[in-house]
Amino acid sequence: MRALNKKRVLVTGGAGFLGSHLCERLLEQDCDVLCADNYFTGSRDNVAHLLGNPHFELMRHDVTFPLYVEVDEIYNLACPASPIHYQHDPVQTTKTSVHGAINMLGLAKRLNAKIFQASTSEVYGDPAVHPQPEEYWGNVNTIGPRACYDEGKRCAETLFFDYHRQHRLPIKVIRIFNTYGPRMHPNDGRVVSNFIMQALKGEPITVYGDGSQTRSFCYVDDLIEGFLRFMAAPAGVTGPLNLGNPGEFTMIELAEMVIRLTRSASRIEHRPLPQDDPKQRRPDITKAKALLNWEPRVPLEDGLGRTIAYFRNRFFA
Ligand code: NAD
Ligand code: UDP
Ligand code: UDP
Repeated sequence: MRALNKKRVLVTGGAGFLGSHLCERLLEQDCDVLCADNYFTGSRDNVAHLLGNPHFELMRHDVTFPLYVEVDEIYNLACPASPIHYQHDPVQTTKTSVHGAINMLGLAKRLNAKIFQASTSEVYGDPAVHPQPEEYWGNVNTIGPRACYDEGKRCAETLFFDYHRQHRLPIKVIRIFNTYGPRMHPNDGRVVSNFIMQALKGEPITVYGDGSQTRSFCYVDDLIEGFLRFMAAPAGVTGPLNLGNPGEFTMIELAEMVIRLTRSASRIEHRPLPQDDPKQRRPDITKAKALLNWEPRVPLEDGLGRTIAYFRNRFFA
């Protein structure tokens, strides 16, 4: 029988990169954790170390189907996050975001449970405003290759706010900017995992375009701390709230840093820039600072060092 005083938390997409770190932190906070995942991009390996914990339960479930469980809080993270994965089956990506949001909101409504949505900086598209504050409505191509993800996540935000207004559901919507760290998928094509794997293999570092486009990279532990603070914030704090690290780097700078930290002999090689690739991205985190007293602590160089150590041990030991 479950302990009556424990909070029961559902994490969808819990066997993924961010989800596995979140499950870990929730268990540390003495919660009962139910992890639901269809293993499309996540894996049981990511949570293997939690399986022996009696307060952790792993279930195979696709969020596009209804789910009837009893929980106190829901974190909805289920969705492939990297461009090659979400473009692999774009229709399924939209379904996961939209039908997944409807099902999880329906579940939250039945239980009157607080529900958290992992939205994304991609809702800003290729932004015409820099850095991006939450008030910016974005610049998304509705019919481009990134639209299945961007518009799916935008529609999910709409659903969250309509359930909030229409059904008084307690919601927390976060817009995550590029995050990296241990347990990133080695083949998901995201820039940090690509560069590290290429550097460790001694292969060319593939910089798309001239490498002058920028991104801001947040270390996973900082992000998860932000999730927990946001979930614990008063009900009036619904978001959407940007979470990310405002340090901004060009892809050339990132490539050079990875080469230096891995002491790799790899050289930079340029490849064509993918369609609709945003030119710049940096979060304005004024709101998160004020509302959650949160800001990232781990500088890129330190976080890359920890991530490189993970990739080395996991794939090159
Ligand atoms: P990830 O691919 O590692 O994790 C996503 C998880 O969702 C995987 O375990 C996958 O198997 C699961 N999943 C996919 N479709 C599902 C479905 N239909 N039903 C059940 N499970 C399903 O990616 P991540 O980086 O951990 O991203 C987690 C969430 O955060 C995603 O919603 C993503 O959009 C969002 N996000 C991530 C970043 C980032 O930089 N990592 C940035 C912005 C937003
Ligand atoms: N749902 C679910 N678990 C629940 C309750 C609802 O998965 O515990 C799903 C169900 O498939 C439903 C969706 O959530 O279609 C939306 O539920 P809601 O109550 O908002 O709408 P309705 O049931 O009227 O379609
Ligand atoms: N990128 C790159 N080389 C790679 C992978 C990505 O230069 O091997 C670039 C990509 O074009 C983009 C940036 O790195 O400008 C971030 O790409 P990622 O797919 O990690 O995230 P997103 O574009 O979704 O922010």
